[in-house]
Amino acid sequence: MNKLFIVLVLTLLGSTSFAADCISKSEMQTIASHFSQFRQLANKDYCYDGSQTANLLQAIMFMRKTAFEPNMQKSQDELFSGRFSSSWYDYFIGRIEDIDVQANCPKGVGAYVYGFGNTMYVCPMMLTESFSALDRASVFMHEARHIDGYPHTTCSRGARKGLSGACDTRISDGGSYAVSVETYAQLAKYATDIHPALKAYAMSSAVTYADEAFEVPVKIDREQKLLLMADSTQLYSMDLSGNNQLTALGNAPFLGKIVPRAQHMILIPTDRTQNARYMFANNEGEIVQTAGDAIVEYNTQSPTQRAELADLHLGAQWTAKVYTSKITFACDPRSPSAKDVKIPQGEAVSILYSNGYSRAARSNYLLASNGQVYEFGCNERGLSPFINPVNTPMASGLVRAYKVNGQVIGLTEGGSLVAVNGTQTTPLNTGLEGQIYEIAPRESFSFMDAQ
Ligand SMILES: [Zn+2]
Repeated sequence: MNKLFIVLVLTLLGSTSFAADCISKSEMQTIASHFSQFRQLANKDYCYDGSQTANLLQAIMFMRKTAFEPNMQKSQDELFSGRFSSSWYDYFIGRIEDIDVQANCPKGVGAYVYGFGNTMYVCPMMLTESFSALDRASVFMHEARHIDGYPHTTCSRGARKGLSGACDTRISDGGSYAVSVETYAQLAKYATDIHPALKAYAMSSAVTYADEAFEVPVKIDREQKLLLMADSTQLYSMDLSGNNQLTALGNAPFLGKIVPRAQHMILIPTDRTQNARYMFANNEGEIVQTAGDAIVEYNTQSPTQRAELADLHLGAQWTAKVYTSKITFACDPRSPSAKDVKIPQGEAVSILYSNGYSRAARSNYLLASNGQVYEFGCNERGLSPFINPVNTPMASGLVRAYKVNGQVIGLTEGGSLVAVNGTQTTPLNTGLEGQIYEIAPRESFSFMDAQ
């Protein structure tokens, strides 16, 4: 086998779609003229039924019909050059002639092509309700780019270090991951008839691919901030560059824990009868997509079972479900296997990201109910899980901590913010003293903010 095997490693292993009911007979005939596999379905209107074929056709329709603003300005940074922005569908049919749905694929693989021929192979995961038509369209464009002769390399650094076929060298080369970034960025900024929450999701996806899938870091004009959730559910953005000024954003649908997932935020409501979901900060609403396997599992559980989940860490290559008395680790990015490790003493309270939330980090801190802090993670070599007590003293009385913009900020049990320096804490004046429920890292991007 000397086939050049080109796969797309999905940035986010995990998640349904917008529904437009039916595709007209004439549309179906046009599609069937390009993809003969749909010929039998083209003698009448086709109505979506949730099947793999329906999800495939929905993605094709997304490429055909998504409307964009007429003048799509380039970004000042490397997020959007516009070079793949003309007709997605024409680009796709210029390269792909046949779409072959596979019965099985390795973990994390969504679709692939070979270095010859014009067939795109699509994995079952990609056609589940865990992905939207938007995701699929981006993936299909990515695959079409491979036909032009752009293979991937193994990542030597960053969140995807060691994963084969998971990186391109630099975004300016215009390879397949550049197409992933560009398509999501284009949807986020310039799509005219897409739900605001999907646009926000697309922006997070663009930045995640840009951050994780290139050997040479992608230039992105960005600013690190802190998101605050008040007891009222009001969300605020805290500017960390100057005077800690707060800007009111939207409302969270419920109070709860915020779990970062790359650039995305997942809300685990404190009211355990409510499902966990992606959360957007500016009242964009919701998306139907589920937020990955761990959340799909959580949402199938009873409220009593759900209450066992104290926190969740989602790295690029490993995940940790932190339960009251154990952590369930999935350390191997190539395998679905998981291993439980008991928390030595005390019950889990929450993850403290005192070194910052990083998708590449191999470990994080866990606060237990007895005040003990543990370091937990997956060893890079051997991919084995560990939980070890931290013996150096750390600031106490905190229920959350994030390092953002070079500064560790803690949330106290009393609902106020403090700056943390070693074991020392200094109150931060927010005007919301005693009313802060949760904090999370948040970034803003010049590309989205520019008019
Ligand atoms: Zn690829």
